Amino acid sequence: MPAREGGVMPKRIQMSRQRPWRAENPDAVIVARPSKWGNPLRVVRTECSLGGLCWAVALGQMVVQQHLDSDQRARELAVSFFRSWMDEDDHHDLPDPSELRGRDLACWCPPAHPCHADVLLELANGPDDEGVLPRNHPTPHPNYTNVVSAHQEGAQQ
Ligand SMILES: [Zn+2]
Ligand SMILES: [Zn+2]
Repeated sequence: MPAREGGVMPKRIQMSRQRPWRAENPDAVIVARPSKWGNPLRVVRTECSLGGLCWAVALGQMVVQQHLDSDQRARELAVSFFRSWMDEDDHHDLPDPSELRGRDLACWCPPAHPCHADVLLELANGPDDEGVLPRNHPTPHPNYTNVVSAHQEGAQQ
């Protein structure tokens, strides 16, 4: 990532109702929903058709991926789907992240959680000529099958 003036890298800021995060980060751009930068893919906790509760990734009323074992896994997938979208040429009509170049980005996600703001940071501060992720980036499509089958097996026992 290119260094900003003063040599500071753009970073993710956690918004908080307990802390004066805005006063501490006056220039950060909010990328949480409902801003235009918000991830359209949401993590939801749902009643599982196999019993109990499980996590899912949803787009509006549509469930994109269900039977996820943990909130963490669902968050990872929501970010992973978002990354895949942004890698496509039309961005699914999502905004062009180059507007965010050099800016800190603010979201509600705790620093330890995967967050779509990290994708935006990468894309916004990536190489000028390509505007795409570096080649050594992890594949955007993890293998979901193992997660789903593990959950179903667990529920049937
Ligand atoms: Zn389930
Ligand atoms: Zn976030």
